[in-house]
Amino acid sequence: DAEEVERTVVAGFRDVPDFPRPGVVFKDITPLLADPVAFGRVTGALAAVAREAGATAVAGIEARGFVLAAPAAERAGLAFWPVRKAGKLPPPVLRRDYALEYGTASLELAASAVRPGERVLLVDDVLATGGTARAACELLEEAGTEVVGLAVLLELAFLHGRRALGGRAVVALHAQD
Ligand code: AMP
Repeated sequence: DAEEVERTVVAGFRDVPDFPRPGVVFKDITPLLADPVAFGRVTGALAAVAREAGATAVAGIEARGFVLAAPAAERAGLAFWPVRKAGKLPPPVLRRDYALEYGTASLELAASAVRPGERVLLVDDVLATGGTARAACELLEEAGTEVVGLAVLLELAFLHGRRALGGRAVVALHAQD
């Protein structure tokens, strides 16, 4: 059930203060991934979110989003689409540049894999300011798909990432105030 899933997420991540920069508390999900029962429970919960949202595909954001989205897609019997950091995918790609705290970053999507009209659940490990997820949503929407929601293990609610996502649905298996 939902409470057991939330307990699994809370027990499965580790806080790393001042990484990768001073003042940032990095949420490390490595312990969760190393425990097959916990990992299976969480990917099963993500698969259920995809099915309940009527998704036809699950997209993951490189790199930790891949690790979660791919097994969730497979368990739900749905397509998996990788949303990659720039320069990794062969052409043709769709590309989105977005602002980071320092500088910019870019995400890309393989245009050939994505069919317009599909309903896609986007998956990542952590929702922080929402800039990354918003760029991924815009890329998927530019490709003609409907983003039925974003699912994350952990939402850092004090950073108000939902605001950056406009009215798009967000499911967080655990939220931290
Ligand atoms: P943001 O665009 O600010 O929402 O940042 C989200 C992206 O950065 C996700 O792909 C996360 O994997 C990563 N991220 C941001 N903040 C953290 C954090 N405190 N711990 C772990 N990953 C983070």
